[in-house]
Amino acid sequence: MDKKIVVAGMLLPELSEVITKMGEPGFRAKQIMEWVFKKNTLSFERMSNLSAALRQSLDASMQVVSLRESRSVVSADKTVKYLFQTRDNNVIESVFLPESKRATLCLSTQVGCAFGCTFCASGANGLARDLSADEIVSQVLLIKNANPDTPLTNIVIMGMGEPLANYEQTLKAVRIMNSPDCIGIAARKITISTCGLPKEIMRLVKEGIQVELSVSLHAADDELRTSLMPVNKKYPLFELMNTAKEYIRQTNRIITFEYVLIKGVNDRKEDAQRLAALLSRIKCKVNFITLNELEDRKMFTSSPKEIEEFKQILDKRGIHYTFRRKRGRDIQAACGQLRMAHSS
Ligand code: SAH
Repeated sequence: MDKKIVVAGMLLPELSEVITKMGEPGFRAKQIMEWVFKKNTLSFERMSNLSAALRQSLDASMQVVSLRESRSVVSADKTVKYLFQTRDNNVIESVFLPESKRATLCLSTQVGCAFGCTFCASGANGLARDLSADEIVSQVLLIKNANPDTPLTNIVIMGMGEPLANYEQTLKAVRIMNSPDCIGIAARKITISTCGLPKEIMRLVKEGIQVELSVSLHAADDELRTSLMPVNKKYPLFELMNTAKEYIRQTNRIITFEYVLIKGVNDRKEDAQRLAALLSRIKCKVNFITLNELEDRKMFTSSPKEIEEFKQILDKRGIHYTFRRKRGRDIQAACGQLRMAHSS
């Protein structure tokens, strides 16, 4: 595949400009977008209300998506993990999580990751490169196309990579996903998850787009957090929490703090007490994630008893929390796992 213009990475005004330059009336752009985003059509050939000549010239100069599906694996619980190949032969992954009345898509924003959280597979080989907005949106279009009968209701940017370290392209993709001309998913149904980059979190406030923000916390004291998430050395909890408070104050929205429970590491009573104290005056919720155990890391999921005790401490202190259901374990649906298995 060569460097063609990619429809998946454009908002309507940009596509209109391209189409007008081709000597076509601007409304053709809207027609193309309807085919791509509303009717899940990934080939120009099938856009039957365009002339054959236009379809041909579109095909010669543009492409709809910039990724190719290389593999998909379906879990017993219907979670589907997709591996996509980029034009430069990198491999990225996305996860589709259908439920009875909704479906969530977990997207990647980078090939690999530079942040090296010790429990996560995505950073095992460092960062290869950022994904472009068209590659981020292509994940959505290809998965929508493969699942035409399941309405896509939620997007979580929790796949491979750190979205706020690829700020421009991630935001562009969010705008395309949000635009009624394009995918049209409400901003509140789009969640950006970050390892905690203060400057970018504050930049997000200024965007004026009502996306949900999740911050991966995983520990409530600096020493432990730094050992799990090296980014904490650069941006310690004091700075991260001040940023979180400022975000909440300026947006009047809540933050979800992600906390993956790891046996004997961050699931002890004192961890729960520290967490409750850290969050006691912040408008937030904690989302507990069950650890997906990686073979080589010697980290294990907490037992039901430890989880129960942890919950009781938070209950006493009035901290709101949810538990993310564990899905797709049998298909290695945690960040970077399938890709790692694929490349080894
Ligand atoms: N870089 C972003 C988004 C990608 S990770 C971030 O750090 O938030 C999405 C979530 O999955 C994060 O909360 C991350 O800490 C968590 N995660 C990573 N590896 C995991 C594993 N092996 N088991 C459970 N959760 C994991």
